[in-house]
Amino acid sequence: MLKGDYVDKSRNSPPMAYQLPFPPDALSEIVVNPAIPVDERVWVPQAENVAFRPLCLNRSQGYWMNLLRVRKSGVLSCHRHPQTVHGFVLKGRWRYLEHDWMAEAGSYVFEPPGETHTLYVPEDVEEMITLFQVNGVMYYTDPYGNNTGYEDVFTKIEMCRKHYTENGLGADYVDQFIR
Ligand code: FE
Repeated sequence: MLKGDYVDKSRNSPPMAYQLPFPPDALSEIVVNPAIPVDERVWVPQAENVAFRPLCLNRSQGYWMNLLRVRKSGVLSCHRHPQTVHGFVLKGRWRYLEHDWMAEAGSYVFEPPGETHTLYVPEDVEEMITLFQVNGVMYYTDPYGNNTGYEDVFTKIEMCRKHYTENGLGADYVDQFIR
């Protein structure tokens, strides 16, 4: 047997849970079920026909995981990503005005740093929902690169807090998603 080989001692017995405590400084896990909410109040409006649902707002590493929902030819305005984005389409179809490919339910998308794009949902799509992991900032620009605003994990947290305060879920509803 080679050094480092894993020996599965549980092969002929029931699986056994890890028996030691987790590191005392480890953060707690997040389990969101259902991730696609039943309660409409959980969706945070972002622009006309555009809303997001927080899943993990990682202020310690500067990224966020969220579901983005866009309805009826809604547009997520032009923005630049200085860091990587990963996306997985759960429902519907969308494309970027800057690319000729279409993302549809089941598609995975990797967006490298430097991507600057405008998300568009075709008119025949009632609703699209995509899971996005966004790192760092979304740097909003006009079509010529002039800055028009930004979003980061802290503005996302603030938007959630404001919305949940106003709709009765409470300012601390967002806390369960923050790590
Ligand atoms: Fe983007």
